[in-house]
Amino acid sequence: MFDTDKIRKDFPILSREVNGKPLVYFDNAATSQTPKQVIDVIVDYYSNFNANIHRGVHTLSQEATDKYEAARHTIQKHFNAKHAHEIIYTAGTTNSINLVANGFASLLEKGDEIIVSALEHHSNIVPWQMLCEKTGAVLKVIPMNQNGELLMEEYDKLLNENTKLVFVNHISNALGTINPIKEIIDKAHKHGAAVLIDGAQSCPHIKPDVQALDVDFYVASAHKMCGPTGVGMLYGKEEWLNKLPPYQGGGEMIAEVSFEKTTYAGLPHKFEAGTPNICGGIAFGAAIDYMNTIGFETIANYEHELLEYATKKLLEIEGLKIYGTAKNKTSVVSFNLEGIHPYDVGTILDKMGIAVRTGHHCAQPIMDYFKIPGTIRASFAFYNTKQEIDALVEGVKKAQRMLS
Ligand SMILES: *Cc1c(COP(=O)(O)O)cnc(C)c1O
Repeated sequence: MFDTDKIRKDFPILSREVNGKPLVYFDNAATSQTPKQVIDVIVDYYSNFNANIHRGVHTLSQEATDKYEAARHTIQKHFNAKHAHEIIYTAGTTNSINLVANGFASLLEKGDEIIVSALEHHSNIVPWQMLCEKTGAVLKVIPMNQNGELLMEEYDKLLNENTKLVFVNHISNALGTINPIKEIIDKAHKHGAAVLIDGAQSCPHIKPDVQALDVDFYVASAHKMCGPTGVGMLYGKEEWLNKLPPYQGGGEMIAEVSFEKTTYAGLPHKFEAGTPNICGGIAFGAAIDYMNTIGFETIANYEHELLEYATKKLLEIEGLKIYGTAKNKTSVVSFNLEGIHPYDVGTILDKMGIAVRTGHHCAQPIMDYFKIPGTIRASFAFYNTKQEIDALVEGVKKAQRMLS
């Protein structure tokens, strides 16, 4: 049995009120809440061993370094990377993607092709467009159907000997679709192309195994999986990370520096210029530990129950349409009320203490596909409850009465 009452006690913020009503937090796809187990680690860091890492001989610096590197091992183990140095700390998913896109600028030529999907977040479109501008490579898009599922036959047709890179998110943040990434990876590899999977939206729900997937790059943000903002990771296969040039120059990423020549440090430091988010990295490890104590299978099963319950209840409202009806989807419900702007609904829900996201969810091409300005998106986490979904349904009905 899944004890949500007990789990909710781990999250101090869930007991606060908003506009005089108990907070109902359904914006988990934008950022997740932080359990006290992770908050404690952050407080402990600044209270007891805040120091710069890797350089100091003094005790605090060594303690901070040990914890930071231990967290890297926690991340390595969680994603089942072969080596700890294949885990690069970054500022988050966007930063990880830009690091790879920047690196590929020196590996691509005019006429090379990059494939992305119709379901991408802006952070997985714009860096590739910039890369194409720089290199003369061409961007191709895997289209989707009305359910928000990628058309795999079309993907087959896009792949050819010019394909150098494929970039797809594991789960769409706007619609919740879980993409068939193993098939996408295997097919790309048959054509000699590398694959980067954006795991920002999957890591809160799924425990990916990068070796079993045989993926070349996998990226994630801590703040979507119970960790702090401003920290994330890039997993890259050792051979790929060795091929890519450094992203930024500075301290920590060098072996030797003179004005004539600089040699770069080995992995992972080659990609970690400057003082990193030390506390964030340590807290990222703590967040992964926390989620693993609950268990990803338990999380996925419970969230699926929430998804089914919310879908059923919301569809009972007349004039409500759900966008994203893929067979394989996670706990995100994107919807609109006929004739009503999503923003207005979001504003009324906030008055009732219910936090949802409204707008294009950084995925404008998806909204264009459905010919809508945006949606109301409720995204659930394992600490949400069916009673909260009931409150959402009541809130949406009330908003509909007030606005029509
Ligand atoms: C949130 C998100 C991103 C961006 O993550 P940041 O932490 O803002 O860098 C990228 N892709 C997807 C699918 C996301 O959900």
